[in-house]
Amino acid sequence: MRFAGKRAVVTGGASGIGRATALRLVDEGAEVWIGDIDEAGGRDVAETSNGRIHFLRTDVTRTGDIEALMAAADAAGGLDVVFNNAGAGGSRARIDEISAEDWDRTQALLLRSVAMGIRHAAPLMTARGGGAIVNTASIAALQTGAAPTAYSVAKAGVLHLTTLAAAELSRHNIRVNAVCPGFITTNIFTSGLGIDGEKRDQANGMIAGIAAHAQPIQRAGRPEDIAAAVAYLASDDASFVTGTHITVDGGITIGPRHSW
Ligand code: NAD
Repeated sequence: MRFAGKRAVVTGGASGIGRATALRLVDEGAEVWIGDIDEAGGRDVAETSNGRIHFLRTDVTRTGDIEALMAAADAAGGLDVVFNNAGAGGSRARIDEISAEDWDRTQALLLRSVAMGIRHAAPLMTARGGGAIVNTASIAALQTGAAPTAYSVAKAGVLHLTTLAAAELSRHNIRVNAVCPGFITTNIFTSGLGIDGEKRDQANGMIAGIAAHAQPIQRAGRPEDIAAAVAYLASDDASFVTGTHITVDGGITIGPRHSW
């Protein structure tokens, strides 16, 4: 019960990593506000939580929405934890063909959203003496070949933003860290493809399953694997940890499993 009596915000909480993290924080005593553009998914998560999860329709590319989400949690007794996590694949265009508009849209969704999440959480946390912020980066921030360029650059930005914000906000007793997921079975691979239900679940499982063959730990990554790392970073167990990241990727960034 590391979050008993605490309030947390989770963006992208209607699905995947955000959903698993919201449920994990609630399991450990928190009351959670999830922000997402998926209203049906968001309401579904809220309904299964005995009133411990509140859903607020939030588009993280709209700064006013982020501000309102942080304010809602704060108004209920003070904002303690923020997980800036919402995202999607972004532009798949190569660097020699991408348009300025696609570039900007991807950065707004994946990087500016995190900057604005920190921007609007920090003053509220400062006012109550501190807090913990965790941002979702990716193994795409650490190496080539994991995701398209615009996405990977945004995630590398999230990592550097995390270290800079940690340095700036330490004087207010606010810790800022990131998590770098590897291939995790969620809807991110299939969102926008127009497939639903069983077919979508099969496709989601297949992609993380294929990646697993190249990993030292040869199973598909689960949203709960990331939720556990986020819960650690957000908790007082990590009270001496700031400006860094945890990679949760089945070992894929260290190279293939050795056969000798
Ligand atoms: P997911 O599709 O299951 O969940 C993402 C959630 O973000 C969805 O509920 C979606 O509706 C929401 N979202 C998308 N755009 C939004 C917007 N503009 N405003 C608010 N909400 C929005 O995918 P996921 O894998 O759980 O993704 C969560 C985070 O993890 C993302 O930042 C993603 O880049 C990152 N990530 C995922 C993986 C992976 O393999 N699944 C790997 C590395 C990083």
